Amino acid sequence: MAECIFCEIIARRMPADFVYEDDEVVAFKDINPQAPVHILVLPRKHFSTLLDLKPEDASLVGKLILVANEVARKFNIHNRGFRLVFNCNREAGQSIYHVHLHLLGGRIMMWPPG
Ligand code: 5GP
Ligand code: ZN
Repeated sequence: MAECIFCEIIARRMPADFVYEDDEVVAFKDINPQAPVHILVLPRKHFSTLLDLKPEDASLVGKLILVANEVARKFNIHNRGFRLVFNCNREAGQSIYHVHLHLLGGRIMMWPPG
């Protein structure tokens, strides 16, 4: 999907600060971090929103969480705590329509979120 900025990053046609990659999942630093650690974890495969995921994608979605755990350990925020967020569609604030998991940490998180 040529017009998807995250597909462009995954294809290495646009730059990003990668912190993890394998054959199914990549993770890179958010360009506008909302916490000292703000990493985006996403499937290489393009899904516009969470609503496009199918039952056969369940293990891939689970892997996003396992990769987020690994990245949280890498940045040594795992014991202090971290937050994982998927934004789906407009009212949740989704701005890039390629499914991605936000990993946020390195500061105290508020609840409820804004
Ligand atoms: P969303 O609002 O869709 O949940 O999250 C999109 C995230 O992507 C935002 O936190 C935004 O800062 C980040 N972002 C947008 N464009 C780029 C980009 O070109 N590179 C990187 N690394 N992050 C981006
Ligand atoms: Zn995409």
